[in-house]
Amino acid sequence: MNRVVREFADKYRLKDSRVVVVGAGKSGIAAARLLHALGARVRMVDTNESLSETAINAVTSVAELQTGPHSAAQFADADLVVLSPGVPARSLEQFMKALPPEKIIAELELASRFINAPIIAITGSNGKTTTTTLIGELLKGAGKSVFVGGNIGTPLCEYVLDMEPADVVVLEVSSFQLQNCQHFHPHVALFLNIAPNHLDYHEDMDEYLDAKLRIFAMQQEDDVAVLHESLRPVLADRTFTRAETIWYSAAEDFDAPHLPGEHNRGNVQAAWLAVKQFGVSPLNAKAVLAEFRPLENRLELLGETGGVAFVNDSKATTLEAVAAAVRSFNERPVRLLMGGKYKGGDVSKLAKSMEGKVAQVALYGASREIFEAPLKQYFPVTWDETMELAAHRLFGQAASGDVILLSPGTSSFDQYPNYKARGEDFRRIFGECK
Ligand code: ADP
Repeated sequence: MNRVVREFADKYRLKDSRVVVVGAGKSGIAAARLLHALGARVRMVDTNESLSETAINAVTSVAELQTGPHSAAQFADADLVVLSPGVPARSLEQFMKALPPEKIIAELELASRFINAPIIAITGSNGKTTTTTLIGELLKGAGKSVFVGGNIGTPLCEYVLDMEPADVVVLEVSSFQLQNCQHFHPHVALFLNIAPNHLDYHEDMDEYLDAKLRIFAMQQEDDVAVLHESLRPVLADRTFTRAETIWYSAAEDFDAPHLPGEHNRGNVQAAWLAVKQFGVSPLNAKAVLAEFRPLENRLELLGETGGVAFVNDSKATTLEAVAAAVRSFNERPVRLLMGGKYKGGDVSKLAKSMEGKVAQVALYGASREIFEAPLKQYFPVTWDETMELAAHRLFGQAASGDVILLSPGTSSFDQYPNYKARGEDFRRIFGECK
């Protein structure tokens, strides 16, 4: 246990209290370890009845483990419930009726109470990971020690428990996490954009927006709120922060030559506005941006074969990300691979926005019934059972100079365990075409 945790341990009166942690993933396990170290009696609940042995061992050394369907009994004696990042509180409402809302908190909220360093937090529907990573690199490039995590990489509870305190803590945060935060207080908070997303868990767009806006809820006058211009109309009638508010659009003064697209120029500007608050100089920023490459599965250029570029944008799970991807290849005709588990969004609007930029769409897997008709109004559209068949079909018709773009606009769960596996498969298919 590090010094900060020890100092705070007594304050929170967690000793001997009953805490239920939901979700035995990395974050849940880290939360259970932290709570155990604080003297709480921890119960871990997870619906997955076949957790890995490693997870079971990690949990049972600090908590009682209950797997299988959730029940009210699991929460009946809880003084506090801590939710893993991927768990929407709504999905558990029926079991936690007796608990007041402030007793149901996100792992992020728990951990953030033990952090003294200034926090930069990033939310939005698209571009969080890219912008979070950019911010981390820009700060490191200026010689700061940085922790980058939250929704990605190392859970915040693990940082609190095991790592040396950093100068700046940079956190990607999701709407689920924000919904169950009461004290979370970033010095700089970024809100990148909003698209219909996770509407299967949020009641409607308003609730989703309310959740995102919680990123600003605890900010004070000496904090900074950074928001994309596109959010102005959405937020016109709302008071959402006491902080200095900065609106941004695409960067003009900075060039990130390896990051394609207008949307990435927006991400660069957002990142710059965040790190500027910590004394990063334009010169330092320019040097880092000159080297920064797209992350895997986000407009990642796999290579070219016969003059045809293969671009892996498997992380594009929203239609807005697809639109942004297609706009990034202005001069090259795009042959687009789409398909998978539809998450919402207006396909007709997407189709219209891609007119003149897309030569052909090859659909594969699930959601044909949603995509095919609206896309057919603008482009030749085919459907195959698998991505492999659809990709080979595109390659057969592509000419030198074209881009074959996997930007599926869906989640991958119809055929793959996650977007990474989908991206890996596309990489393999590219290998076959070489
Ligand atoms: P997130 O963590 O929010 O999912 P990522 O950085 O992982 O964001 O990118 C996810 C997808 O969104 C990728 O396809 C990427 O190209 C696209 N994207 C990145 N930034 C933006 C943006 N500002 N607007 C729209 N799409 C974006």
